[in-house]
Amino acid sequence: MNIQLAGIARESIVDGPGLRYTVFVQGCPHGCPGCHNPGTHDFSGGKTYEIETLIKDIKEQKLISGLTFSGGEPFCQAKELCAVWDGVRNEKLNLIVYTGYTFEKLLQENNPEKIALLQRAAYLIDGPFVLSQRDLTLPFRGSKNQRILDVQASLTKGEAVEIEF
Ligand code: SF4
Repeated sequence: MNIQLAGIARESIVDGPGLRYTVFVQGCPHGCPGCHNPGTHDFSGGKTYEIETLIKDIKEQKLISGLTFSGGEPFCQAKELCAVWDGVRNEKLNLIVYTGYTFEKLLQENNPEKIALLQRAAYLIDGPFVLSQRDLTLPFRGSKNQRILDVQASLTKGEAVEIEF
């Protein structure tokens, strides 16, 4: 199976706590004004990666403490990202997923592939980038409306449970 990516960062310290491997997916439908990464919007852009090759590369990074799926919009390639996570998951790694959707919107849509990705995540950083709410002091986010959610607690409760790292 293949996945369409804008790129990867093998040792990121800006996409969540600790040293993380970040997968930037290609393609985003949200079109947030002021988006920091407009080159990731085109679904036909980016580069095609074999998922098995990506899994192997992630497993070779022995110092990472987690994996981050960013974009682009990760939930537009939810099935592929589930396969990536299932190929690398171990007790030492946690998964952070960025999304321009809100947690509530994902629950409401109830798409099985998107819910499956949600279920695999430890943390969700949700919501579109809103230029009027931009705040450069926020850790790991670009605008004040974006939240860091404890996904497992949120799924158990059926509503968003916010945390700070
Ligand atoms: S969701 Fe992210 S990548 Fe997509 S338009 Fe908004 S800021 Fe850009």
